[in-house]
Amino acid sequence: SMATKDGTRFNSNHPQFKPKVINGDQKRQKIEKQRRSLPIASVEKRLVEEVRKNDTLIIVGETGSGKTTQLPQYLYNGGFCHNGGIIGITQPRRVAAVTVAKRVAEECGVELGQKVGYSIRFEDKTSMSTKIKYMTDGLLLREALLDPCLSRYSVIVVDEAHERTVQTDVLLGLLKAVQKNRSQISNGSSNIHDHVKKSNNVKEEHNEVRKSNPFKLIIMSASLDARGFSEYFGGAKAVHVLGRQFPVDILYTAQPETDCLDAALVTIFQIHLEEGPGDILVFLSGQEEIESIEGLVRENLKKLPETNQKLLIFPLFSSLPSEKQLKVFTPAPVGFRKVILATNIAETSVTIPGVKYVIDPGLVKVRSYCPDTGIESLIVVKTSKAQALQRSGRAGREGPGKCYRLYPESRFEGLADSTVPEIKRCNLSNVILQLSALGVDDIIGFDFMEKPDRMAVIRSLELLYLLGALTDEKKLSDPIGHQMARLPLEPNDSKALILASQFDCLEEMLIVVSMLSVESIFYVPRDKLEESRTVIKSFSSPEGDHVTLVNVYRASIEYLEKNRTENGNEKAEKNLRKWCKDNFINSRSLKHARDIYSQIRENVERMGLKISSCGDDMLQLRRCLAASYFLNAALKQPDGTYRVLANGQIAEIHPTSVIRRAKPEAGPSMLCLERQLELIQMLKLMTGRRLGINNPGAHIIGFFIFLSKEQESAQIGGAYDPLKLYVEHVIMNKRLVF
Ligand code: ADP
Ligand code: MG
Repeated sequence: SMATKDGTRFNSNHPQFKPKVINGDQKRQKIEKQRRSLPIASVEKRLVEEVRKNDTLIIVGETGSGKTTQLPQYLYNGGFCHNGGIIGITQPRRVAAVTVAKRVAEECGVELGQKVGYSIRFEDKTSMSTKIKYMTDGLLLREALLDPCLSRYSVIVVDEAHERTVQTDVLLGLLKAVQKNRSQISNGSSNIHDHVKKSNNVKEEHNEVRKSNPFKLIIMSASLDARGFSEYFGGAKAVHVLGRQFPVDILYTAQPETDCLDAALVTIFQIHLEEGPGDILVFLSGQEEIESIEGLVRENLKKLPETNQKLLIFPLFSSLPSEKQLKVFTPAPVGFRKVILATNIAETSVTIPGVKYVIDPGLVKVRSYCPDTGIESLIVVKTSKAQALQRSGRAGREGPGKCYRLYPESRFEGLADSTVPEIKRCNLSNVILQLSALGVDDIIGFDFMEKPDRMAVIRSLELLYLLGALTDEKKLSDPIGHQMARLPLEPNDSKALILASQFDCLEEMLIVVSMLSVESIFYVPRDKLEESRTVIKSFSSPEGDHVTLVNVYRASIEYLEKNRTENGNEKAEKNLRKWCKDNFINSRSLKHARDIYSQIRENVERMGLKISSCGDDMLQLRRCLAASYFLNAALKQPDGTYRVLANGQIAEIHPTSVIRRAKPEAGPSMLCLERQLELIQMLKLMTGRRLGINNPGAHIIGFFIFLSKEQESAQIGGAYDPLKLYVEHVIMNKRLVF
């Protein structure tokens, strides 16, 4: 993230930006009026009727028409919870689950977590009385592990299905099976569908629910083409909800822009200074980009005359704390303009009122997987035509609008029509782990809407097998595989935690995994390159980047706790933010890591894993890391580069890595690469230079652990030397047969 100079800033705490105080009645009336004016409101009766008549229904409707916030309320009022069942709505994005749940609770006039709640990984805001439950699709998959029939639910709404995330696709397959299964149970047949393991303890009351209230499945999508979903669900009925769309002027740049951030920045000010009232929505690829633009807008704004400074900046990305996410919905005070800097979240998942201008650089960050190398990374790619249309549509919700595409018109013509489903371009290990835990052993034969590539499946099976999660028969191993499936983490991270509990360093491994789960911990302002290096060095450990992360975490907690006893919690947190700033640490990322830490800690405690600390002796920790990431092992070459053993790819040590300075010995010293970061983003921060758009040929980078020769030979029970593991499992050809 970029440093933003403090000083006079316009933010939502600005004195002019206090929400108007209105009493409860006025507020209710206002909300009721808003609800009634949504396009979906005119078809409420018909929708409820269609859901009653059809067990599976596809609802297609323009973004912002009210599908996500209204349909669950219609169904609740239509009696779909009468038999004790609840309505579950899945979202691909955490942000959407949270903000929409809060909105719907407000619309219903209830406290969040009561009738209306949400549940996402690491955060549960539901209770026994929750009837309308928003959640991520991944979370519903986890629930299916405990209750394969999803018997608590009378309705499941799979929202944003057009996004075709891998979790959505897996969920659709699973729900298809659940539905078959549940309708058979309610028909009195005990013939359980092969795909879903029978739950041993389906309670009687739940059976009652199912008999009288069959399972309703609703697929909602913003893409107008419902055919794919309809075919997949055996010709299910599709209904269309018409939106209200005003004309949007599409503008293209005359020339291709080499620097999208600059182009976006210039366009923001161009609109702000030259166009009439209306908020601006800018689509950016991630937190780093958003934060650097935010800094630049603030800097430039200060240079304008006072009267032109009435621009309020709102970032919106998934790791933003939820109070801040909600602020984006607050209308700008009279005379002010909002500029919303959002990731793809704002494309269809959430609709922010007031937007009249959209700036679309035409890029999006996606997961990408290469089965040959087994490497998954996040890369920035061009949007599809469908995405570009969705984005421009955001400008025309409340009146005519304008969309500024930061590329020439000729490029639009060359875009793909729609996005390739994620299942075709991601690492499948987690999917396989989840499905195995649900009793689905034949992944290749599973009824996916779109089949994943065979090679990707094989590679992912291999990884799980090598990590010890699958047996020779491709069944989940006991206990490792089952434990791994219970942890909401990537398989390597889960394995590292499980191993660490055996080798008395789980305390530290929890820190490592949490710190790796957030975007960069360090930030390096362009103008303080040298100073920051010296400060950051004080944390760095020659034992590697992971140990360095542990040092940072420990130092921050120590600082916080000392401060807390002296100054109380609130002050201590504030001081910590200052401490972070002084130490070139991104305080937001650190806070996020602390939250994740406590969540994962709860998880492993519940699983009964032993949590103990290794103090300052990090050798066991490094061995456990190596043993979980040995597939990423790289061997140093005579020319100083590293060759990844598994695929022969040449890797370079990232400039931020501590190993870069503590140059490891030549010869067969081992490095483990862990978690590929995005080269471009990191380099941008390091060099202060903005690099061009995604370069697919970029080298892989990562965090490194370094094991010297003696350390390699001092193995834990002989079993956790990465090179040995590697040789045994991979080179000795101990592979699965397909
Ligand atoms: P759809 O799912 O069809 O895209 P939504 O149900 O998400 O539509 O949105 C309906 C309306 O509710 C939009 O006008 C949107 O601006 C509004 N809305 C959604 N969430 C919030 C919120 N947290 N605060 C205020 N308005 C909101
Ligand atoms: Mg929606």
